[in-house]
Amino acid sequence: MSLIAPRRKTRELHVGDVGIGGHNPIRVQSMATADTRDPKATLAQITDLANVGCEIVRVAVPDRRAAAALPEIVPYSPVPLIADIHFEHTLALKALDAGIHGLRLNPGNIRKEEDVREVVAKAKERGVPIRIGVNFGSVAPMTPEFVDEMAQQNATQVQLRAEWLVRSALGHIKILEDLDFYDTKVSLKAFEVPVLLEAYQRFARLDNDYPLHLGVTEAGTPRAGSVRSAVGIGTLLAMGIGDTIRVSLTTDPKEEVFVGYEILKSLELRQKGATMIACPTCGRVEVDLFKLANDVDKVLEEVTEPIRVAVMGCVVNGPGEARDADVGIAAGNGKGVIFRKGKIVKNCLEENMLEELTAEIYAVIEDRKNGIYDELEEQPNAYRPMISLTAV
Ligand code: SF4
Repeated sequence: MSLIAPRRKTRELHVGDVGIGGHNPIRVQSMATADTRDPKATLAQITDLANVGCEIVRVAVPDRRAAAALPEIVPYSPVPLIADIHFEHTLALKALDAGIHGLRLNPGNIRKEEDVREVVAKAKERGVPIRIGVNFGSVAPMTPEFVDEMAQQNATQVQLRAEWLVRSALGHIKILEDLDFYDTKVSLKAFEVPVLLEAYQRFARLDNDYPLHLGVTEAGTPRAGSVRSAVGIGTLLAMGIGDTIRVSLTTDPKEEVFVGYEILKSLELRQKGATMIACPTCGRVEVDLFKLANDVDKVLEEVTEPIRVAVMGCVVNGPGEARDADVGIAAGNGKGVIFRKGKIVKNCLEENMLEELTAEIYAVIEDRKNGIYDELEEQPNAYRPMISLTAV
């Protein structure tokens, strides 16, 4: 039995030409950090994000100048854009007029009912979906009635917070449903992973099929934030919950895209570019494996085809640990053996390892493109010869 649960059934929405929910792949999103009032800088960053695989980019629209810049951004963007808008409905109308592909807006935060109606009518007319996004840090304070209700259920603090997030989202959803609007995506973000997991699970049990956007809010700097996001987003994805993801990191947003895809690749939910397997090294290692692994990582950043590459520090465990790799190197004593699916194809000296491994990676990609039969690829139980470094 697979530990990865079947994906929750959700309705299909379209953000521009990118399908989300339904049978579409789980999409990787990010958010531009450039000032939207500077269209050139914003467009440059959106293009950079698209080049590393970001499929949808959110841009902040905090004021009229930002909204006024959208006509210089939206038509030239290589990927669909979502305008992030709070409180001010005229900004949403301007974004829609500029051809924005999605809105991130909580209708309950717009004061006048007729203003909400105007935005929703225009979004519907243009086929633009709306993401309702509730964050525990910014939801309205809990009402005493709600706290009492949860106390009667002996709810824990985590359950209390999670349920409040869900109720807040449902309040915004109801406003849209009352206006006959259902092209809605929902996020229920929190920094605390237990609250996040509880909230999304509670929402997923409800009787609706709105796609869910996952993210750990303000996850932090790259190291801590990547781990926190991987645990939060990864756990939910493994439960079959989630249609789009964004890893929020306090760094260049391109990193968010790399981490997002690593989470999806780890769960085998998507394939994109290379996957590197590298040993952590131990007392057996006899070459500078950290440098080699980092150099290979840089080479693989340019590879867009799915390929597994192993960089191992010795011939004792290296070949066995990297057996499933398409291409691997087992290094030791100033030398390296390059193998393909466990079969030796080349020996090399330490100074040539990167160059030789890179050549083999591109040779495999080229062979695949040309449909060249890889006999070991087709025979997973084929005999793997012992590796020897003596031939170098
Ligand atoms: S592959 Fe070799 S060097 Fe790397 S951790 Fe395993 S035993 Fe140690």
